[in-house]
Amino acid sequence: MQDTIVMKFGGTSVADAERIKRAARRIVAKRERGFRVVAVLSARGKATDELIAMAEEVSPAPDPREMDMLLSTGERISCALCAMAINDLGHQAVSLTGSQAGIVTDTAHTKARILDVRADRIHAALDEDKIVLVAGFQGVSTAKDVTTLGRGGSDTTAVALAAALGAAECEIYTDVAGVFSADPRIVADARKLPVVSFEEMLEMSASGAGVLQLRSVEYARNHGVRIHCRSSMEDGPGTVIVAEQDTMERPLVTAITHSTGESKITLLGVPDRPGIAARIFGALADANVNVDMIIQNEAASEGAGADMSFTVTRDDLRVARLTLEPVVDELGIGGIKEDEKMGKVSVVGAGMRSHPGVAAKVFDVLGDAGINIEMISTSPIKISCVIRAERVDDAVRGLHDAFALSGKDTVLAEDPFAGPR
Ligand code: ASP
Ligand code: MG
Repeated sequence: MQDTIVMKFGGTSVADAERIKRAARRIVAKRERGFRVVAVLSARGKATDELIAMAEEVSPAPDPREMDMLLSTGERISCALCAMAINDLGHQAVSLTGSQAGIVTDTAHTKARILDVRADRIHAALDEDKIVLVAGFQGVSTAKDVTTLGRGGSDTTAVALAAALGAAECEIYTDVAGVFSADPRIVADARKLPVVSFEEMLEMSASGAGVLQLRSVEYARNHGVRIHCRSSMEDGPGTVIVAEQDTMERPLVTAITHSTGESKITLLGVPDRPGIAARIFGALADANVNVDMIIQNEAASEGAGADMSFTVTRDDLRVARLTLEPVVDELGIGGIKEDEKMGKVSVVGAGMRSHPGVAAKVFDVLGDAGINIEMISTSPIKISCVIRAERVDDAVRGLHDAFALSGKDTVLAEDPFAGPR
C-alpha cells in the first residue's frame, strides 16, 4: 500500500486565498508523488483570536461549551475552502470536522485531550483515492459535544492522525523554516536546527517555543511519530524531531526559548501545615489551570505563615484568581498578590545532562545585563528563569550570544518539494 503522509498547515499558511491555493498545490503535489495524503488545517490568520474577541464582546466569562462551538468554526472554514481549491486542481478532496474525522476527546472544554482516533471514515476516503482535509484543533467529547484542544492544538490533531494512520511522517508547515536556536524575530542570526530530540523539543514547547504545541510533541514521542517542521513559503528541509539516539550533534546548549505571557501569583501568610499545598494546587488543577514554577518560603517566624509564589500563563490568570478566592478564605491565607507582566527565558540542551556549569553561566549573563531573576526552575536538560516581561528580549539575545548558538543554516535541497523523503 502507498505510504500515508499527514501535512499540517498553520494559520499564516492559509491566511488568504492565494495561500490556500498554494497549500492546495503542495497537497496535490504530494498526492501526485504517490502518497495518500491527509491534511490538517488551522484557522486562517488571526481567525481564532477574532472569534475569542467576539465572545468577549458578548460575555465577560464565555461558557466553555459554547466557546468550543464558536472556535471550532475557524478550522472548518479553512478546510472547506482548501477542498474547493484542490477540486479545481483536478483531484478529489473531502473536508471533515474533527468529529467526522473520529477525533474523540475528554470533556475538558477549550483544553480537551484526545482519547481515541476512530479513523475509519478517513481510511474509507483514502481508499476511494481522495485527499482528506481535517479541521484541526477540535474533536467530539465522550458526551458528544464539540471540543477544542487548546491554542496551537492543530499540531496535536496532525500528530494524532499520523499515529492512528501509521503515517510515514507528520509534516508541520509553518511560517518559519523550522525550529530555531532562538526566536528569529528577536535574534537575527538564530540558527535553524536540522534535528532536535523529542526531549529537547518537549522542554522547548513547554517553555515558549510556539512552533509546536507541547501536547503534540508528547503525543509524537509516546507514539513514535516522526515530525518534520518546515516552511510553507519556501522549499527545502526544515527541522526533524526524532528520538534522542538519532540526533546527530549534541551541543551543550541547543536553544534559548522564551515567553512573555506569564503571570506570577503570590499567596501571603499561608498556614504552614500538611495538606495546604495539595488543597491550593488541587483546586487550580480542577479548574484546568496549568501551574508552572512554584516557590515556597519558610515562615519568617513561628505562626507567621509561609509565602508561596507560582506562575500561570496570563491567559489563565482570571480563572486562577476566581478559583483561589474561596480557597484563600477557607484556609485563612493572609493575602493574594499578582504580577501580571512576567516573562520567562529558558536554556535547553541535552548536552547539559553531562556537563555542569551551565546554570552558573546563565545567572552570570543575566546578572551582567542587570536582569533580576525572580524564580528559577531546572530539569536535567533545561534551566528556566522568570524575569520581568520587558527584559525578555535582552535576556534571549545575551544568552544566545554567550552560548555562541548562531551558525550557518543548513544547505537547501534542489527538489522544490524535497524533504527527507
Ligand atoms: N487555530 C487554533 C489556534 O490559534 C489552533 C491552531 O492553530 O493550531 O490556537
Ligand atoms: Mg501553531
